[in-house]
Amino acid sequence: MKSLCISTLIACLAAVQVSAADMGPQPAQPGAETFTLGDFRITSLRDAVNVVPNDGSVFGADVGPKAVAEVLTKAGQKTEAIELSVDALLARRGSEAIVIDTGLGPAIPGALASSLSLAGVKPDEVTTVLITHVHSDHIGGLITREKQSAFKHAVIKISGPDWKWLQQQPEMAELTRVIAPQVSTFIPGEDVAMGIKSVRIPGHTPGHVGYMISSKGETLLDVGDTVHSSIVSLAKPDWGMGYDSDRAIGRTSRREVLTQLAADHQLIFAPHFPYPGVGWIVSQSDHFEWLPKK
Ligand SMILES: [Zn+2]
Repeated sequence: MKSLCISTLIACLAAVQVSAADMGPQPAQPGAETFTLGDFRITSLRDAVNVVPNDGSVFGADVGPKAVAEVLTKAGQKTEAIELSVDALLARRGSEAIVIDTGLGPAIPGALASSLSLAGVKPDEVTTVLITHVHSDHIGGLITREKQSAFKHAVIKISGPDWKWLQQQPEMAELTRVIAPQVSTFIPGEDVAMGIKSVRIPGHTPGHVGYMISSKGETLLDVGDTVHSSIVSLAKPDWGMGYDSDRAIGRTSRREVLTQLAADHQLIFAPHFPYPGVGWIVSQSDHFEWLPKK
């Protein structure tokens, strides 16, 4: 009896370890899918995958895992975890190469550098890096494994409130020190490049922004982390999100932005939606659905 208990316990522990190892950031194959937007060539760059456990800490932070599982089941998905893509965007026009967000970086390692190479761009050719917000899955790729700046010749634009917040985080001190000479801050809502305007979308971090890219009457909005799951965030936009700095503002922002995006039939890029993360938000009575661009 005693040996059965011990062997069962070992089996249980092994099972826990296996599932725990499958959670969190995971490597992904590089990817670089390109389309045109007026004078811009836009490329969705693949970096990694983040498997978030359905334990009530992130999705459905105020309703619990059972309610989240119901939404996932309805969508034909497994219920123990929510798989998010981690992607970034490249916007090229003439000699400009603008990267929006930089993935997880050397920790995983993320595939962003390989994806950029697939797109035919060397890191030293990147002229501007725009950051939607300073979470590690968006700024991790600003430095290399050797703790050097990954984009040596680029101006790195970060909203003033997020740059201030980043500098207060001791665990990010090394990254902050490395990138500081290249950082240029802006006020959310300001233009950040020719044809690219920052859009204030509050709640996720102190200075979280989206970026509206416009050329010749065509537009694309990189929504940053306004939404995370193409299933849960759209089915239940009013649920609290554990990654939001201010959950109350985050849920209000999410509902308002999604309503506007659907009404405007606005083409968007969502860094955590299934790769390549480009498409439209469609309104369905009290919730929304994702329509990927073919
Ligand atoms: Zn994120």
